[in-house]
Amino acid sequence: MTAKIIDGKAFSAKVRAAVATDVETLKAKHGVTPGLAVVIVGKDPASEIYVRNKVKQTAEAGMNGWHYELPAETTEAELLAKVEALNADPAVNGILVQLPLPKHINESAIIAAIAPEKDVDGFHVINSGLLATGGRAMVPCTPLGCLLMLKDTLGDMTGMKALVVGRSNIVGKPMAQLLLDANCTVTIAHSRTRDLAAEVAQADIVVAAVGVPELIKGAWVKEGATVIDVGMNRIPKEDGKTKLVGDVEYAAAAERASAITPVPGGVGPMTIAMLLRNTVTATCRQNNIDPDAL
Ligand code: NDP
Repeated sequence: MTAKIIDGKAFSAKVRAAVATDVETLKAKHGVTPGLAVVIVGKDPASEIYVRNKVKQTAEAGMNGWHYELPAETTEAELLAKVEALNADPAVNGILVQLPLPKHINESAIIAAIAPEKDVDGFHVINSGLLATGGRAMVPCTPLGCLLMLKDTLGDMTGMKALVVGRSNIVGKPMAQLLLDANCTVTIAHSRTRDLAAEVAQADIVVAAVGVPELIKGAWVKEGATVIDVGMNRIPKEDGKTKLVGDVEYAAAAERASAITPVPGGVGPMTIAMLLRNTVTATCRQNNIDPDAL
């Protein structure tokens, strides 16, 4: 079997176009313009690229965007004050503090300070609690993007065996929760899992969020499975340059899977699209507008 390639770039363009339409409707029918504030502390080249893309795509979707670049010496108290000011600003519907933060700032304290209804990253404990209990959560962008791609590829996933490799709070755990909500039978694997190959071999759906280049071998993948590769690992090439690879041995897995996301061009582009989608969702909830009725 040769897998269908799930094109995250094309899919994310569709999501962003739908978001832009919703933003137009919000402006025209309700007089509301969604607004996203992004805060970055210090200079981290990878984060700067993400933030630049976020700001650009916010504008392209017709939203208001604010971009705050704070110096690396910013204290925790100063950052908390910035978050409080954004919480209090009615024009700001979504707040994103780019992680990682410099070591002298307690990330958990900053995430906890963001108003849960403006937490478009979905990292606040209130939102993880709501997700775990079937409430109206803000759902973390990367797993939400993976879910959308899976639904688009598979339709109803009821009864399927899903394996999530990785148990981080930002990807693995919320992903497992979303698959459970979609009526999958879910297994979560991690660094202490005894026989990862055996777990992969049983799964109809594999979501890999590990951070180890090509950990999941193509030969482990069940014939006809759907594989979503969240991993983004930069590895050296022979010519001294680097390349981006996922957590799955792509070419070999593509021979067995029925559908697979490439790296790059799979999950990555969906993450920012879901951030925009979450900002629209947050705006609707804050203004008592039904997002499904837009
Ligand atoms: P974390 O480092 O927080 O979590 C990694 C998880 O993988 C842990 O639960 C760890 O287990 C598990 N793990 C590590 N080694 C193994 C192993 N040998 N076998 C099985 N499980 C293992 O990473 P994140 O969840 O933040 O990110 C995962 C990957 O996804 C990274 O490559 C990251 O760059 C990428 N990413 C991509 C995004 C995108 O937009 N495309 C967004 C976010 C992340 P344990 O808990 O036991 O230590």
